[in-house]
Formats: sequence, structure tokens, C-alpha cells
Amino acid sequence: MSAHESMTQMDLNDRPNLKDFGYDALRDRFQQEGWSAYRADQVLQWIYTRGVGDASLMTDLPAEMRDRLVRDWEINALTLKAVQKSRDGTRKLALRTRDGSTIEAVMIPEERRNTLCVSTQVGCPLACSFCATGAMGLTRNLRASEIVEQVLLARSVLDPDESLTNVVYMGMGEPLLNWPAVSESIRILTHPKILALAPRRLTVSTSGIVPRIRPLLELAPVNLAISLHATTDSVRDVLVPLNRRFPLEVLLGALKNEPLIGRRRPVFFEYTLMEGINDSISDARRLPALLHGIPSKLNVIPMNPHADAPQRPPSRAVCDAFTAELHRAGVRVTLRRNRGADIDAACGQLAAREATEGPGIQLD
Ligand code: SAH
Ligand code: SF4
Repeated sequence: MSAHESMTQMDLNDRPNLKDFGYDALRDRFQQEGWSAYRADQVLQWIYTRGVGDASLMTDLPAEMRDRLVRDWEINALTLKAVQKSRDGTRKLALRTRDGSTIEAVMIPEERRNTLCVSTQVGCPLACSFCATGAMGLTRNLRASEIVEQVLLARSVLDPDESLTNVVYMGMGEPLLNWPAVSESIRILTHPKILALAPRRLTVSTSGIVPRIRPLLELAPVNLAISLHATTDSVRDVLVPLNRRFPLEVLLGALKNEPLIGRRRPVFFEYTLMEGINDSISDARRLPALLHGIPSKLNVIPMNPHADAPQRPPSRAVCDAFTAELHRAGVRVTLRRNRGADIDAACGQLAAREATEGPGIQLD
């Protein structure tokens, strides 16, 4: 094992990474270190505009500061292990953390945009029964630097005529269970002096951590996606065990009463269709009433089958009938096709195999 790979969790926590900090946080931190706040502007420019990953090359910083950055700080958080390309152009990046875990990010080209799906945890503690990441359990939360670096590394593998236009927090993990790092990563991605992505180009997907929805919407006008997947508590309790803690009425009630959701910022509901489980016409008929009062768009996705889950996608005819019923009821609905399934890059297929069981849900 190389010295790089043998770094322990303690090493990780001890050395701050420059990419863990948003604009305000880095200015504050530099002042605590005895450096002028404007040095943060210079450092951010080196890292994000010029792509420099070595503090000794930041020539407009005082020598003493450069030396301390080299000695006590990190800049790079992940290494790119492999890029797999699907027949449909979807690319899956396998990335290694400094403590030896593998995480995945998926780049999905569409007609006028290039969307990157980022991971927020190594594994996930929520154990949704149809999800490969859920079957892994949680190893640990990712740091903000590790989320941001997925974006930087994805940009580095783009062709010269491509650009990254959208970021969705829909990879491995539950973003709202890693709020400190996820919120800082949103600040970093959207800050005009850092990566300057418009908040409407970001989407955060949650299986329904209700108390974190308001803080997310207050942080920035990003899109919110809710993984719904069922129309009754008895079915959702089984598919998304978090439902026992935040049942449908609590989740949907919170969204109905949320003033930061409106016509210009609809909620995206994700509904993964599983054969014989949640794909009946009765389910389709229950949905409009459940969503009533929430400006929303519904994405229906046939289940991506994989070895860790027993569920299967329904036939094309069942998917079409389900969607048609919703159309008739006036629901804004799109039937999504699976992307990247041939390289296990589709939703719910992300599972880097090294991960082990970890601690359960921790909400403060
Ligand atoms: N933890 C968050 C975000 C990551 S999962 C969440 O659950 O929302 C991203 C999306 O993929 C979620 O909507 C999730 O329900 C869905 N998903 C998981 N496994 C899937 C599978 N096997 N087929 C299709 N979608 C799946
Ligand atoms: Fe976690 Fe989302 Fe998978 Fe559920 S669907 S186990 S919340 S990653």
C-alpha cells in the first residue's frame, strides 16, 4: 500500500483542505491564521481559475504563507481511477478518496446540457430496498472538498467543445444527512468568485429528511427533488424505510406549507416504477391528490434492476399506462429513460464495492 493510501481518517480530519472552504469561510479561516482576508481571493483564483493544485506555485503569496500551505494544508481531495463510457455517451468516473474508499460520479450528456451526478457519502445509511448504494450501508460522509472535486475532475475529462452545465446531488448517499459538507459545496459551486454555477443549475435529491428542506431552500434557490416512489405509507415504509420517521403526510405537508416553493421553483418528484409494487393504476390515481397544493413536476423512472435488489421494472406498456393516467389527471409528468445502465451508472446502481457497514442515521 502506498503512503497515500495508508492515510487514516485522523489524517483526513487533521489537515484542512483548501477546497473545503467557501469564500466567506476561507477569508475567516485565513484571518485566524494571521493572513489578510484578500489572500483567500488569490488562493481561490489559483485553484479554480488557473487550476493549480500545488501551493508552492502560487507565486503572488508571501513565501511564509506558501510554505505553511504546503506543510499544513491539502489542495487535492480525490484521484481519478477510471472513466467508463456507456453506449449512450454517459460517463462514469470512479474516484478514490485519500483514505482509500471509491466513490462514483456520473456525467450524462443531453441535448443542450451536460449534467454531473455527484455523490455525497461513501455508501448510505438509509437502506432503501431497491437501491444498490443503500445495500452498502454508510462508511462515512464526504467532505465538501470531495464533493467539489468531483465537479473539477469531471470537467477535466470533458472534450474541448463540451462544458458542464448542471450538477445533481443524486449519486451515492443522502445529501441532507451530510448537511455541513453539502451546504458548503453548494456555496463553493455557486459563488461568483469560485465556480459561479447558477443555483437553478443545481438539484438536490432527498428521500425526505424533512427538517433539512427549509435550510436547503434558504441557502440558495437550487432545485429540490423528492424521492417519493409510493402512494401509501405501507408501501413507502418498505421501499424507503425513512418513511417511518417522516411519513407521507409529514413530508408532503411540509412541502405544501413551504413558502420558498412556488410556480417558478416547482418540486421535482422522483417515482421509480417497480413491477407489482407501486405501478398500479390505483397508484397513478392516488398521486394527483397527494401532490395537490405543491407546484411540482413528476419524473417516472423504470427501476434499474441490479443484483442487490429483488425488484424489477414493469413492462413498457405498464409504464406508458401509468404515465398516461397521470397526464389525464393534469399532472406534469415525464417518463425518463435509463441512462448508462450498461456500465452500472444508472440511478441506484452506484455501489463501489470496498465500502463497509458504518454508523446509522445521525440527525442533530
Ligand atoms: N439519497 C438521495 C439521492 C441519491 S439516490 C435520494 O434518495 O433521493 C438518487 C435517486 O435514484 C433517488 O430518487 C433514488 O430513489 C433513485 N434510485 C435508487 N435506486 C434506484 C434504482 N434501482 N432504480 C431507479 N432509481 C433508483
Ligand atoms: Fe440512500 Fe437515496 Fe439509495 Fe435511499 S435511494 S439508500 S436515500 S442513496
